Amino acid sequence: MEAISETKTELTNLSGQEFSRRSLLQSDALYQYILETGVYPREPEPLKELREITEKHKWNMIATPADESQFLNMLLKLVNAKNTMEIGVFTGCSLLATAMALPDDGKILAMDINREDYEIGLPIIEKAGVAHKIEFREGLAMPILDQMIANGKDHGTFDFIFVDADKENYINYHERLIDLVKVGGLIGYDNTLWSGSVAAPPDAPMNYIIKKYKDFVLEFNKAISVDPRIEICMLPVGDGITLCRRVI
Ligand code: SAM
Ligand code: CA
Repeated sequence: MEAISETKTELTNLSGQEFSRRSLLQSDALYQYILETGVYPREPEPLKELREITEKHKWNMIATPADESQFLNMLLKLVNAKNTMEIGVFTGCSLLATAMALPDDGKILAMDINREDYEIGLPIIEKAGVAHKIEFREGLAMPILDQMIANGKDHGTFDFIFVDADKENYINYHERLIDLVKVGGLIGYDNTLWSGSVAAPPDAPMNYIIKKYKDFVLEFNKAISVDPRIEICMLPVGDGITLCRRVI
């Protein structure tokens, strides 16, 4: 818990420029073109409203960007996801994009250590008519996952799991999630290109948040690249999302 609040304090102290949500594309103009041409003109009203409210939050830079929400929404429809999980909710941008993609009887088990931020988005989620699909659990994700594995009934039941929380634990989450996702199901790990730092030379200038977690992201990326239980696809959407499809 301490490490998380320490990170949030560090984030608060950063200027927008040091930790701005720059895209991984070759120019900001190209990213802007994607947003203005393919995303904003057809962005559903609830997602727009939540994005605009989230932009006022002091940690707005950690929110899922609109193009990634659009991607998640389409992906979930393509795989006919029904039973899903999200680790790391913040104000709910990816959560709402997920909830809007699921059928009316779809479910999202959503976890975050902080309920306050979730409550910023909750009225919009309710207004969108999708709150009944969400079960929000406040607390550290790891003990919740361990309890689910111990009780045995959730084994191999999830169609889709989105992981967007503490990067230092991705590798530990993976060992649990591989048990909970169904064979043929997907796990999406977010921020796996970590502002492009994963391919930066060792002496490249980078802010301390990027520097602090870079080795965890590198270690995680290396581990899953050779994991025989999954197929993977690393996509340069948002800050990089790695899709893992469980095969055994
Ligand atoms: N998916 C969100 C969105 O669409 O905007 C962004 C999530 S933000 C990058 C990361 C979130 O993970 C924060 O809200 C933080 O409180 C939460 N978090 C960090 N460590 C956690 C942990 N160990 N267990 C559960 N939640 C955690
Ligand atoms: Ca993220």
